[in-house]
Amino acid sequence: MKAEYSTRKIAVIGAGITGVSCAHRLALDGFRPTIFEKSRGLGGRLATRRLEGGLSMDHGAQYVTARSELFKDAVAGSVVAGAAAVWHPKVDESAIAGSDQWIVGAPGMNALVKPLAGGIDTRFTDTVSAIERESAGWRVRTTNDAVGQIFDVVVCTAPPPQTRSLLASHHDFGEQLAGVAIAPCWALMMVFPKPLDIAFEVALPKGGAIAWMARNSSKPSRTEGKEAWVVHASPEWSEKHLECEKESVADMLLAEFRAAAGSTLPEIETLVAHRWRYALTTKPLGKPFLRSVDSTLFAGGDWCLGARVECGFESGRAIADAIVGGP
Ligand SMILES: Cc1cc2nc3c(=O)[nH]c(=O)nc-3n(C[C@H](O)[C@H](O)[C@H](O)COP(=O)(O)OP(=O)(O)OC[C@H]3O[C@@H](n4cnc5c(N)ncnc54)[C@H](O)[C@@H]3O)c2cc1C
Repeated sequence: MKAEYSTRKIAVIGAGITGVSCAHRLALDGFRPTIFEKSRGLGGRLATRRLEGGLSMDHGAQYVTARSELFKDAVAGSVVAGAAAVWHPKVDESAIAGSDQWIVGAPGMNALVKPLAGGIDTRFTDTVSAIERESAGWRVRTTNDAVGQIFDVVVCTAPPPQTRSLLASHHDFGEQLAGVAIAPCWALMMVFPKPLDIAFEVALPKGGAIAWMARNSSKPSRTEGKEAWVVHASPEWSEKHLECEKESVADMLLAEFRAAAGSTLPEIETLVAHRWRYALTTKPLGKPFLRSVDSTLFAGGDWCLGARVECGFESGRAIADAIVGGP
């Protein structure tokens, strides 16, 4: 039974934590899934950006927390593999301290998914452009293969609006996705020639333009020796300035950072803004994934369960469990 199922061809769209955790679980059970990823690397919003001059910064997810035993095990595996470490930043006292350990990828957040992705056929810079139903299965067309290939099962892990545009014409996915909401986030990356005179390494200001600011260089395994900071704007501010030019957003957020830091800043070496159009889930689906009645088409992601990396992991695993369990 297992051997028969494991010959089924499975396409996974997206190499973020959801897609990779799904593909990893499938591979453990003898399947040989193919991941299609539109960007150049692994991780999705578990993102690390290499800036001019070679410095890397985490401009998406800042740290992960693990609450389920499964995710704790996966994170522990990454720590053992040297791909993750515990981060103990000095948090501004006005921030609410939780009891969770903060785990970061090493040397960057995207490293967290690497131990799960080993050996899996992953096609980078290959965007899935259409999924069509045929008698033999699902035809998956991509930017590198307009004719496409036929797969028995397709798993889509793109953020909700992108999943909607790929899958809305199939089953009732469009309707079910209508209730899911995801907020944008403008991120600012800054590099300074010398350490800033700021008492904290992380702050979560309330009610203003900035929702998060962190000394990226205080994370373990950031060996470049530069003073690097990341700022995330609040969802409200990000929404209001969503269509602004990157340069003007960078200037506005720098001014906000200057005020919030309460310190005179030295000249900046690097200043880069990045827009996350789909960043943080504000209204999740409320169940771990969507599937077609014949269990050949699945959609999942953090947006199913919440706004955290662990939610994506859980969704990916649950999809794989459903596929392994058979139709
Ligand atoms: C600014 C920011 C800060 C955050 N902070 C935290 C935090 O501190 N802690 C935390 O736990 N979580 C945080 N999160 C949330 C966390 O990043 C997400 O929950 C998680 O990474 C989502 O993973 P995913 O695999 O579901 O989606 P994604 O990571 O978005 O992966 C989807 C992948 O699909 C690819 N894709 C999309 N369309 C196509 C297509 N047509 N063809 C091929 N590939 C496609 C994308 O390129 C992407 O790689 C943050 C997110 C952001 C943006």
